Amino acid sequence: MRWIRESRGAEPAAHRLSFPSAWTLFFAGLLALAGVFVLSAAAPEKHLAVYSTAANYSLPLVQRQGRDYVGLLELLDPLGTVSAKSEPPRWRIHYNNVLGEFTVGSSRARIQGKDADLSGKFLVENGRGLVPLGSLNSLLPRILGGPATLREESGRLFIGNIATHFTASIASDDPSRLIFHFTAPVNPSVASEPGTVRMTFRHEPLTGPASPMLTFGSKIIPSADYSENNGAAEIAVTTTVPLIATFSPDGRTVTLAPPKTQSVAKAATPAVPGPTPPFPSNPPAGQAPAPIVAPSNPRRYFAIIDASHGGQDRGEALSSTLAEKDITVAFARRLRQELESRGISTLVLRDSDANLSLDERAFFANTTHAAVYVAMHAASNGHGVRLYTALLPYTEDDLGPFRAWTRAQSPSLLLSQAAETSVAAELRKVQVTVRTLSAPLRPLNNVLTAAIAVEVAPPAADVSALTAPDYQQLIAGAVANGISAIRTQLGAAP
Ligand SMILES: [Zn+2]
Repeated sequence: MRWIRESRGAEPAAHRLSFPSAWTLFFAGLLALAGVFVLSAAAPEKHLAVYSTAANYSLPLVQRQGRDYVGLLELLDPLGTVSAKSEPPRWRIHYNNVLGEFTVGSSRARIQGKDADLSGKFLVENGRGLVPLGSLNSLLPRILGGPATLREESGRLFIGNIATHFTASIASDDPSRLIFHFTAPVNPSVASEPGTVRMTFRHEPLTGPASPMLTFGSKIIPSADYSENNGAAEIAVTTTVPLIATFSPDGRTVTLAPPKTQSVAKAATPAVPGPTPPFPSNPPAGQAPAPIVAPSNPRRYFAIIDASHGGQDRGEALSSTLAEKDITVAFARRLRQELESRGISTLVLRDSDANLSLDERAFFANTTHAAVYVAMHAASNGHGVRLYTALLPYTEDDLGPFRAWTRAQSPSLLLSQAAETSVAAELRKVQVTVRTLSAPLRPLNNVLTAAIAVEVAPPAADVSALTAPDYQQLIAGAVANGISAIRTQLGAAP
């Protein structure tokens, strides 16, 4: 899956992961039954957010022996070449050229032959090596050969010097405007409640000011409070008037200000959608993006499966004889079969060895008006399945009922994330290692409907397992179950 590597240098992939545990769902269910909509009251699953130049991602934490544990292989996998071998009670891991040796039940490990203290027992579950979260501060610098800073209380891990800092000040000409400047682009979720506006940063290595409480000397916006919890950073702004957030095109400036009556009136005026433009493509730099509109054709196919690559684009050379483009077609066809057997009409976008551009793929997905788009990829590195949703660029504003081509996905992103979560849960049920990420991957960002990418890596070291019918069937069946589980939600989208 070549686009991952291409995207890494320019824009690090960010990760979002929110798997409600069975308990969370249980409690949420109880609360719903009680007629109380307080989802946040249910204890959320604990996460570790990892920030690095290679990728930003999040991992679930498990509670064992009265403390938090994390899977070491899962933690290192996005950062370099890693493999692990479980021969109980021994468990060994290779990260690039570094060897780590662990023993089940022992709080001592050896990294490159040198003793390391884990501050708690090493555990193995289903072959997964688990280390105490608190051991990462001493363990990671020795494995990675560079700085790593763990904030244990808030579940955040910074690898290398990648922190994003911010300043906040009231506009000199307007005491109702609060302006934040960030040292790197940010994309927080913004929530308002009476008296408070909260910006939550799940994907950014945001670090707080020296004092968590900022005061502004404005009666309208008196203060802001910085905090971190469960893999996220939050800025809570105290305000006496309703504020809305606007983002600068580069994503580095966020302005909170009362909504302008003029712009509200303008936004409320319905614009007349024009005809679907001819084949869209990325505009030359500096030019306005071509607007696109959602087509209103009736739905012929519920799901579109896109076998990525094809024709002259062979994708990744998975081995000397195995091209990614052939594996993606095989998975796409199995997935179609699995979906159709569940009564879900499915079109495979590339059912032959054809050349198809990314724009063409998105265009077909959009014009068929399917409820969900699934791009299949295959990879030789890592294990199991990586699921992706789009990480949208910050640079272009939506154009009312028209949407910028590079942000076409934006209204469906929550639905895409729901699909991702559902598919991940089904894969886990069949013991497949799965990770969910968001990344600036085309054409996910160009697709109007719910859109995910499924990247299948082999279950173990042997890449040829990607061709094994059993493995293909296992993955296709679980992905189909995940889509089927939220078909009502997907189908309800316009
Ligand atoms: Zn690929």
